[in-house]
Amino acid sequence: MRIILFGPPGSGKGTQGDLLEKKYGFPKISTGNLLRRAVRDGTPLGRRAAALMNRGQLVSDEIVDSLVAERIAQPDCRRGYLLDGYPRTMGQVESLEAMDGGRPELLVEIDIDLETLTARMESRLTCRECGAVYNLELRRPREEGRCDVCGGALYRRPDDTPEVIARRLRVYREETERVREHYRAKGVYRRVDGAGPVAAVFSRLTEILDRELGKTEAGQALP
Ligand code: AMP
Repeated sequence: MRIILFGPPGSGKGTQGDLLEKKYGFPKISTGNLLRRAVRDGTPLGRRAAALMNRGQLVSDEIVDSLVAERIAQPDCRRGYLLDGYPRTMGQVESLEAMDGGRPELLVEIDIDLETLTARMESRLTCRECGAVYNLELRRPREEGRCDVCGGALYRRPDDTPEVIARRLRVYREETERVREHYRAKGVYRRVDGAGPVAAVFSRLTEILDRELGKTEAGQALP
């Protein structure tokens, strides 16, 4: 199954995606993480993307589509995968359908109010190596400044500042929200409440996924 984790920046897609990957074995594909890695490694693609990312604007469809196409062609994606932060435009929706149409799919929105997500992003720390996400209030690392998963150094993303957060939220409303309407019209849209502790949101998500995966394994098409 192709599972799209949907929601505004700061809604917890990255954190929940990591937990879902562990539980179900579907690899999580985060276009934000793939882009940050390219920026860190100084690749030509990373150099093209960096300025846009730091301003909170979207990178071109062409760049992100090619990153996703390359990733989903890997053997570990044969059973399915989880997308985090993609598709974000209708152009990306079309590309995804051209790359891998016909696979059962589901879009789950993590719904959260503006105030909570702004506060979360402002206190977020990200691992430079593996992209794991921490939060000084909700999810502190065991050792200050170090990632629990890989030991990498934690940093504040340059786009997690108040001005850039505001821009990213505007881009989300103007460009990305229509993606949800597309999947809603297809009948594969589900929503969870993103408020509360990480474990509570995770259990809401697994309830939906267990039900939908049960249906596809039993050979029933999604509605
Ligand atoms: P994220 O980690 O998902 O918040 O993404 C961080 C930044 O990477 C975004 O603000 C965009 O500049 C860029 N980005 C990530 N995913 C996409 C995408 N699907 N399309 C365009 N830009 C993206």
